[in-house]
Amino acid sequence: MGLLVVGSLGLDSVATPFDKINDALGGSATYISLSASYFGGPVELVGVVGSDFPKEYLKTMEDHKIDLEGLQVVEGGKTFRWAGKYHYDLNVRDTLSTELNVFEKFDPVIPESFKKSKYICLGNIDPVLQEKVLDQMEDPQFIVCDTMNFWIEGKKDELLKLLPKVDVLIINDSEARLLAHEPNLIRASKKIRELGPKILVIKKGEHGAMLFTEDIIFSAPAYPMETIFDPTGAGDSFAGGFTGYLYRTRDLSSESLKCAVIYGSTMASFCVEKFSTKGLEDLSYLQIQDRYREFMTLSRFDEQE
Ligand code: AMP
Repeated sequence: MGLLVVGSLGLDSVATPFDKINDALGGSATYISLSASYFGGPVELVGVVGSDFPKEYLKTMEDHKIDLEGLQVVEGGKTFRWAGKYHYDLNVRDTLSTELNVFEKFDPVIPESFKKSKYICLGNIDPVLQEKVLDQMEDPQFIVCDTMNFWIEGKKDELLKLLPKVDVLIINDSEARLLAHEPNLIRASKKIRELGPKILVIKKGEHGAMLFTEDIIFSAPAYPMETIFDPTGAGDSFAGGFTGYLYRTRDLSSESLKCAVIYGSTMASFCVEKFSTKGLEDLSYLQIQDRYREFMTLSRFDEQE
């Protein structure tokens, strides 16, 4: 049984103050799957693309042993497209356009061989589709869910219906404030956990991430980086590393959840070093572990008299 990933696969056009790229490989499921593929797999992908989706992008995923049996290719259909522009402060981004295209009529069908999977990562897509996926699973045991402002604003009721069914919600700080109608993140975390997810992760871009459960609040730093090329996909890479690690260890204790947050941050740091998915394409598990250990030294301190 593998780790089931559902979400968008798309063609991204991204501009940063330093460079820009058109129709690059993107999408929430793409980043999650590539990131999670380093943790042992198999990663089982469910999504949809049009016939305009470049074959070389499919090969990139196949090269990472991502099982594409659940990928629908719509003949004559247009792939999901997203365009974004980053400010000089790379934590701030404007969405220039979102074209759902083949996602508008997408009906996720889970292949028989994926239905028994216990670990599921619902990448950012319409919450109605996320729920349709869950409805087809036989006995899901650990469900991680990502979403974004587009759905919090556009499909709030559907999202609220989904949340009691998920174990972990991963969102960024502005999305948490939006979802909870609460500017203070600690208070927002309480409100969001009352909506269903027992575990909440709030990502704060270059300021790290916070984990909230019934028992703990854990604050992790972000990796200090001198060069950030393209922050696109950082959040999804985080979700892939977080879920991939928990899938690998099958340990959902508080200590393991903390490690998962650091592995998530580690994968996000690799992602932003290059444009599109390039930063996730040629890693080794050794490199990932080295950076994970650097995180440990980053915020370790001893008690002094
Ligand atoms: P992140 O930077 O982690 O928030 O994720 C960026 C990725 O999300 C891009 O590759 C986009 O293609 C994808 N994306 C953006 N908007 C949406 C949306 N409304 N639904 C699904 N995927 C999206």
